[in-house]
Amino acid sequence: MPEKYHIKTQPVPPRRPRIGKYGVVDWREDCARCHNCVKKACVYDRYRQEAEYIRNLSDVDALFFDCMGCFSCVQDCTKGLLCMSINPEYQKLGNSYWTPDIIKTTWLQAETAKIPVSGAGYRGPFSGKGFDSMWTDMSEIVRPTRDGIHGREYISTSVDIGRKLSYLSFNGEKKAEKSSNLITIPMPLVIDMTSPAYTLPQLNPLILQTAVNTGLIAIIDSRKWDGNTSQLANVALYLADGQDIPKEAIKKARLIEIADGIKAIENIKAIKKINPQIVAGIRVELTSTGIERAIKLAESEEIEVIHITADACGNEIGAKNPRFIKDMTRQIHTALIEKGIRDEITLIAGGGIGLPEHMAKEIICGADVIAIDLPLLIALECHLCANCKPGITCPAKLEKIDFDYGIGRMTNLIAAWHDQLIEVMGAMGMREVRRLRGDVGRAMFFENLEEETFGKLFGSRKN
Ligand code: SF4
Ligand code: SF4
Repeated sequence: MPEKYHIKTQPVPPRRPRIGKYGVVDWREDCARCHNCVKKACVYDRYRQEAEYIRNLSDVDALFFDCMGCFSCVQDCTKGLLCMSINPEYQKLGNSYWTPDIIKTTWLQAETAKIPVSGAGYRGPFSGKGFDSMWTDMSEIVRPTRDGIHGREYISTSVDIGRKLSYLSFNGEKKAEKSSNLITIPMPLVIDMTSPAYTLPQLNPLILQTAVNTGLIAIIDSRKWDGNTSQLANVALYLADGQDIPKEAIKKARLIEIADGIKAIENIKAIKKINPQIVAGIRVELTSTGIERAIKLAESEEIEVIHITADACGNEIGAKNPRFIKDMTRQIHTALIEKGIRDEITLIAGGGIGLPEHMAKEIICGADVIAIDLPLLIALECHLCANCKPGITCPAKLEKIDFDYGIGRMTNLIAAWHDQLIEVMGAMGMREVRRLRGDVGRAMFFENLEEETFGKLFGSRKN
């Protein structure tokens, strides 16, 4: 049996004061000084920690908001003096898609490398937009001792990037020459280039080292690459449209991604002449023509990987009523099956993947591999504020970060995502992430359920 994929982690505490969600306001004036005060019963010991925090307070902007929101003390105080409040600084984090909850849970995973536990049950809505309109089948969760990260059975998360042969051909007794170039990575995740909207932090050296530590691949813009060939095994060089081909780097690279354009296929042919072993992919933006373009490109023999990218919130780029990444991926995946070429192409999907559950859901919708960028930036305590450019004061002080802190936090986050992928697959009874791809029978979609249940009575929902 191959060695289990394991990422070494250690806790990396935050550099900045924590921005928690809940705090308890204590109206002390009427306090009856009860012998069995409810504050002593806080199982998380937050009142003692708060007192200690206030004694060592250095920044007046950062009050103590580390309550877990269990309501135990609020409900049990005999004089009703305690009330729960939500931190206004917390509510300012991120935006409507990258919610404060996503940012906080990412911070926690980057600090501890552990699967986050809310401590107070799920209080969100039953269904929502985007990935929240999809539920995975967890019917095997009743066997927790056998499955998941603590299970005895091995759950493989390895995937291959490249064109797989659809058949073997033989020349008499011998296998014919035809073979395919495949790159195997231990987890269906690649690190994408950081969105140009977040230009302040220069993270390439950190991202590269994180890719090396985790055995994954980072997509690096060749114009910003430092030329260090020792890390090329973990790099996919990106070439912009019209950019000259860097021949020396191509000779040693395993994976290349080029921007879609008129000369894209011609460029790939030229690259393959320099290095026939290289796996070549094209990055296709999911604009109004993106789906058709991705399907058409998949028919080309030269292209082995198609990387589809939606915008940062997972939406179709430039559309008034945008389609969501999971639906667009499903459409491309289904079209490739109908054409009989699905296994000949690796589909990487990125844009709007903010949580590990999104990774599993996107794979169910048909992606082989997912690409992330913003979660790694958030791991470094980024607030995803809207002012990210040189010259402004970064609230997370990301202009200068320690190398070990950066790679530690990013590595922790990837380890926590890997554990959660295993947990989800264990709960679904899946042993192999390659088999999860496109297995929509393992999921339920709100739109389908609504149509099946109420469509006959009320007709189809109007968008
Ligand atoms: S609400 Fe719960 S976690 Fe928060 S301080 Fe009270 S007992 Fe502790
Ligand atoms: S906190 Fe704001 S300014 Fe700092 S890196 Fe994040 S988005 Fe950019």
